[in-house]
Amino acid sequence: MNKTDKIICQAQREGRKALLEPEAKTICEEYGIAINNFMVAKSAEEAAKAAEKIGYPVVLKIVSQDIIHKSDAGGVKVNIKNKEEVKAAYNTILENAHKYKSDARIAGILVQEMAPQGTEVIVGAIKDPQFGQTLMFGLGGIFVEILKDVTFKVAPITEAEAAEMIVGVRAYPLLNGYRNTPASDVKAIVNVLMSISKLVIDHPEIKELDLNPIMAYEKGTKTVDARIILE
Ligand code: ADP
Ligand code: MG
Repeated sequence: MNKTDKIICQAQREGRKALLEPEAKTICEEYGIAINNFMVAKSAEEAAKAAEKIGYPVVLKIVSQDIIHKSDAGGVKVNIKNKEEVKAAYNTILENAHKYKSDARIAGILVQEMAPQGTEVIVGAIKDPQFGQTLMFGLGGIFVEILKDVTFKVAPITEAEAAEMIVGVRAYPLLNGYRNTPASDVKAIVNVLMSISKLVIDHPEIKELDLNPIMAYEKGTKTVDARIILE
């Protein structure tokens, strides 16, 4: 059994449909997707130690099966620069989570490497009742949320099809670079799409998947948030 099978089995045993971000990221990593380093802390002191190991600046996030959209719950703090800020953020996130959902089950606080800003892209998958595992691509933020500028293809896809998905969004020229932003590594985004295509075909029990956002750089990508929902 590989890590992915183990994580999925454990969630199913515990009756959890939503995988936690650290679980989803471990799965992504096993499929060759670049993620940022992370540790789960259970106390403010532990969080400070983790931040020291990872290196500042860090990002702190709530880890709860009951909080799917972490920022909506005040559960994400970015650009934390020192031990005092880590401890303060740790406590604020827990308070916010409690206010948001008083009975939320909390597995800990995720301490992770802060990724440099890149061009934000989104890769998703959804199990369509008719077509089966279907992949989605779009650019982050308003492009997906407001403009619904996304492309879809039924998995599994070829590399050529992955490239078509990327070129197919209206916002594609942004990936060619603009003003002070360099061109993004489209080949690396193709690789993320190929990895997710393989993952959802290997695991038909995945009902929904979201890598949102993936930072795309001149060289490579980094996936800073991952969400997987099981059937
Ligand atoms: P949510 O559950 O609300 O989607 P995210 O993990 O996506 O939470 O965090 C919200 C936002 O914070 C992201 O869209 C991204 O802009 C920023 N962010 C999160 N993690 C990182 C990170 N490790 N490095 C840099 N920015 C991050
Ligand atoms: Mg997100």
